[in-house]
Amino acid sequence: MVVLEEPIKKVLTIKNYIGGEWVESKSDRILDVINPANQKVLAKVPVSTRKEIDEAVQVAKETFPMWRNTTPVARVRYLFRLKELMEEQFEEVSRVQTMEHGKTIDESRGETRRGIEMVEVATGIPSLMQGALLEDIAMGIDEFAYRQPLGVFGIIGPFNFPFMVPLWFIPFALACGNTVVVKPSSEDPISQIKIAELAEEAGIPPGVWNVVNGGRDVVSGMLEHPDIEGICFVGSTPVGRDVIYKRCGETGKRCAAQCGAKNFVLVMPDANLDRTIRSCMTSFYGNTGQRCLSGANLVIVGEGLNEHEFNAFYDKIVNAFVKAASQIRVGYGLDENIQMGPLRDTEKKKRLVGIIQKGIDEGAKLLLDGRNIKVIGDLPHDAFLNPSVFTEVTPDMYIGSQELFGPIASIMRAKNLNEAIDMIHGNPFGNATSIFTQSGKWTRQFVHDVKVGNVGINIGIVAPMAFFPFAGMKESFYGVLHGQKESIDFFTDRKVVIQRWF
Ligand code: NAD
Repeated sequence: MVVLEEPIKKVLTIKNYIGGEWVESKSDRILDVINPANQKVLAKVPVSTRKEIDEAVQVAKETFPMWRNTTPVARVRYLFRLKELMEEQFEEVSRVQTMEHGKTIDESRGETRRGIEMVEVATGIPSLMQGALLEDIAMGIDEFAYRQPLGVFGIIGPFNFPFMVPLWFIPFALACGNTVVVKPSSEDPISQIKIAELAEEAGIPPGVWNVVNGGRDVVSGMLEHPDIEGICFVGSTPVGRDVIYKRCGETGKRCAAQCGAKNFVLVMPDANLDRTIRSCMTSFYGNTGQRCLSGANLVIVGEGLNEHEFNAFYDKIVNAFVKAASQIRVGYGLDENIQMGPLRDTEKKKRLVGIIQKGIDEGAKLLLDGRNIKVIGDLPHDAFLNPSVFTEVTPDMYIGSQELFGPIASIMRAKNLNEAIDMIHGNPFGNATSIFTQSGKWTRQFVHDVKVGNVGINIGIVAPMAFFPFAGMKESFYGVLHGQKESIDFFTDRKVVIQRWF
């Protein structure tokens, strides 16, 4: 095991970043941030109080007039500088993600790249934020539509992409002229601290970008604060739907809530076997299955095959899948040979171990048991779970219907494409799905009929680029989408002006 140099060498004390100052929280509730690969404590993070979130919102509100009166071109100059600093710190911030989350260094580098792309795209704001003008709506009268920032936005991040996800929103909010208060996941808050440090170094004025660490109290404080105009949330469906979207509706705030998933991956009889299996490995086991775009249910579809042919096809895919999954190298993500890291923490592992037992009790067949831990290197097994594969799964089973968020694949069979699409529609989520096939006809039917936001064709992870919307349907999404154009709408108000010139 050759481990890259670790950028965090001593236990960090995480502070809040309010009004350009790094402030120690007065909270007496402090949590440990633990490296899940070796169980070493990386940082102490406070569970900040209501008073502290109120202070941050107040500062962000007071800073707003100055920031909105900073010209759009001047605002994006700060983002260009931030992007340069992110590039300079690319490797360090990527290693921090691996240390605090557990993902492999390549996955972290991919996450850093995606985060930087958000900043890059937001620098187009002077063009993107332009309004409209129509002259002569009547004799000598013109009509204009302006886009104007609203004020303070609250940004709430999940644990699974600690670096990238808040950047889905922050650069766009700021470029449009708003100020933000960010609440990172308290499970892995260090990446957001690193980005805020870079924002400070880039010269972004104090009070524009604030960070308050904590949990529910901070979120409640945001939801109830009259000076927060809108909330951007990414996390699980129960919190996104029942807490965030509901409270935003009640308090009249704008809301973008991207939530949970249960993604189906279809393999048609004409799929290229090698490419399909390779894609499936990253789809099902990348990020240790802790990804809203992860494959969860593999549906082997027997369209056009007789029973004998279908059984042979099914066996071929299952055998290749299990063989590839069993060969995934598991260990500390800072070792570049590792293909899958640990889960974020031991609690998540305990939950998934229980779910594997539940799958067995429900009657599914466990062909590969990830509870048999095999890791490279001398590491504690606390948060590690190897890849698991179930067959004989049906869509009504817990493992076939619920978001598991771990390295567990559930294999199902469907007689034909219609039956497979019905299975997808029977599930409450609609985040992502993929089909592996060479057929234009099947592809067209799938893309046309399936009620899912992000669709892959011969691709296992459908992660839209910064300049496309990140879609999501049904219980995977509440409120407004994010994406370049959608973000501009979300972070601005329209104002229409009609002028008589003479
Ligand atoms: P989570 O819902 O537990 O937490 C998300 C955020 O909400 C955290 O900052 C957390 O501190 C806060 N929070 C948790 N419970 C709360 C409560 N009761 N009241 C107020 N705030 C609360 O989600 P997670 O475990 O951090 O992240 C994993 C989830 O996020 C998965 O369901 C995954 O599918 C989803 N996710 C979705 C997308 C997407 O684009 N659709 C992207 C990434 C993650």
